[in-house]
Amino acid sequence: MPRPQKDRIVGQPPVYTEFKPAGVRRKSLDTIILSIDEYEAIRLTDYLNMEHAQAAEEMEISRPTFTRLIEQARLKLAQFLIEGKYLSIGGGNIHFRGNIYKCLNCSHVFEADMEKVITHCPICNSDQITDLASEFGHGNCCRERNDNSTDE
Ligand SMILES: [Zn+2]
Ligand SMILES: [Zn+2]
Repeated sequence: MPRPQKDRIVGQPPVYTEFKPAGVRRKSLDTIILSIDEYEAIRLTDYLNMEHAQAAEEMEISRPTFTRLIEQARLKLAQFLIEGKYLSIGGGNIHFRGNIYKCLNCSHVFEADMEKVITHCPICNSDQITDLASEFGHGNCCRERNDNSTDE
C-alpha cells in the first residue's frame, strides 16, 4: 500500500480559520492556505513555547520534518502580515487528537475528548452546537487512529 505522507497529529481543531487585512476587498487579495499541520506547528512552538523536539513528538513526525514545517508556516504568516493576503486555514494530512465544540446559541467554545460525542452545550444546554473536527471533514477517522495508536 503506498504511503505518500505519514499523517500528522494535531491536538485540536483551529477555532478561527479565515483572516484578511481590514479595509481591503476579498476579491483583490491573493489567498494563502495555511495547512492545519502548519497551524499546529505555530501553536506548539510559538504559542505554547514548546521545544522543536517535543513538538515533533506531539505531532508524531521527525524533528527535521517538524523544522521544515515550522519554517514554512512562519514564512506564510510573514507573507500574510507584510504583503497583505487572505489567509485561510485548512487541509493537510492530519488527524485530531482532541476536539473543540462551539455553541451557536451562547458562543461558548469548549474542548472535548475526540472519543466523546457531545450533543448539548454545558453552559446553556442548547443542542445548536458545532463540532469543529467535523467541519474539517474529520471525526471517525481520528477516533480510529486514536484507538489504533500504540502509545497509551
Ligand atoms: Zn451554549
Ligand atoms: Zn481524522
